[in-house]
Amino acid sequence: MVSAVGMGANRFKHEIISTPEGVERCAQLVVEAAALGVNFFDSAAAYSGGKCEEILRLALRQIAGKPYICGKSSSHQEKTRDAVQRHIERSLKNIGIDYFDFYYMWSVKSIGQYQEIMATGGPYEGVVAAKERGLVKHICFSSHASAQDTVQIIEDGAFEGVLLSYSLLNFRENNIALETAERSGLGVAVMNPLGGGIIPQNAELFKPAVLNDDIGISDAALKFIYVHTAVSTILCGVENELELAANVKSLSVMDQKAGIRQTYVTANLGAFSEFCTGCGYCNGCPAGIKVSALMTAFNQTRFKSDTFIYNRTSTELIKQGNFFRAIEGHTEFENSVNPCLNCGKCEKVCTQRLPIIDRISEIYRWVEVSCASLFDRKKRLESLLSNQYSRVGFYTAGGYTDFIIKLYKRLLGDFSFEVYVFDSNPLRWGGELSGGIFIRNPEEIPGLNLDVVLISNYVYSDQIYEDLTVRFPTVNVQRLHTDNDVPWIF
Ligand code: SF4
Ligand code: SF4
Repeated sequence: MVSAVGMGANRFKHEIISTPEGVERCAQLVVEAAALGVNFFDSAAAYSGGKCEEILRLALRQIAGKPYICGKSSSHQEKTRDAVQRHIERSLKNIGIDYFDFYYMWSVKSIGQYQEIMATGGPYEGVVAAKERGLVKHICFSSHASAQDTVQIIEDGAFEGVLLSYSLLNFRENNIALETAERSGLGVAVMNPLGGGIIPQNAELFKPAVLNDDIGISDAALKFIYVHTAVSTILCGVENELELAANVKSLSVMDQKAGIRQTYVTANLGAFSEFCTGCGYCNGCPAGIKVSALMTAFNQTRFKSDTFIYNRTSTELIKQGNFFRAIEGHTEFENSVNPCLNCGKCEKVCTQRLPIIDRISEIYRWVEVSCASLFDRKKRLESLLSNQYSRVGFYTAGGYTDFIIKLYKRLLGDFSFEVYVFDSNPLRWGGELSGGIFIRNPEEIPGLNLDVVLISNYVYSDQIYEDLTVRFPTVNVQRLHTDNDVPWIF
């Protein structure tokens, strides 16, 4: 009997596990989990920066009895019967145990990969041989394949258990796999129960899944999974004692409202199967596109949002803004030409079966219309701050002007004109913007003989334009942002 909460061991943070003390702290968390009744621990040599097995070894010395331990090998790395056996032997030695209770053929993404695993002399033969030697009790697979492929693999009958992604995000499409596993007598461990963090990050959106006495969305999300009789255990990646205790508490009582919960959720959250979970399997794009970063940010556009992009209310602009806000700092767009080669590599491995190619093409359309590429911004700056100008003003003196000045220098080199900065706030007059540019009273504008005053601010662009053009009708005032632009910075 495995515990309702299983412990995933891939979420220990890099900054913690990088010291021996940090590794010991993680081991203590495993010990604490065992004390709370958790008896199912997931592992893989590569998890948590390669420290997972060491953490388990340290913890198991302090745990009475032997909990159930899972191991994994990847058919991309251990491709042969012998390689799998060597991998198992090494992992057992590292953890300090004699056998794995459950051993997974890791991350099976397609029928083609499954066939490679099952080929003569291949990985499956290795794990069967290990089982015959007493090194493995149950042979399982973890599936990132489509629900249909997962069903086919289950029905082939080679495995005793399956590790599946199942959550409020993808329950519709994965129900069939869950039902097939149950009908076929496989043990089911669920991974990604909170959709890689998407569910708690959008608690408001998932509210329909929360029943009255649930303690928030994470509690409701775990309970929703566990009311399925097919599910044996839920792998929760925990980072600290509080999360651990909350997870155990969520699943420590039988849910009396199973029927209500399922009806509720099915009726209200049917559309949430289209989210990127950030698993990263799609990385390595031959065109250099940071696919998982783009797809994770794209999630933001799938949520209904009543958050305006500052004071803009156009639905389309809000959608784009939510995307660019989420991607800011992760990636830059050199230009608006979509570099995707349509090779399909990313879609083939996508654990959520997302239409990545279409989404990338949508994103590049936004990049074009929103002036979000470096190339388009350079063109805009060149056209607004023409080389023939010798005296240029920026208004207002906040982060926007700072950003624009830095961007200009980065894209076009040093200014070939004198720069003046203005702000309506008297408290700022006489102060300096970075680069040592003095902040001035806008009343100085007419006397400075400026060629142009550029409104860099996004939020009040229209109001400032109206104000300046009324007060200084002879001054050339221009806006950096057009109506179609997303903010150049958020
Ligand atoms: S389809 Fe496009 S985004 Fe996906 S891997 Fe190929 S080039 Fe990259
Ligand atoms: S696009 Fe698919 S494979 Fe890539 S990170 Fe998202 S869910 Fe994972």
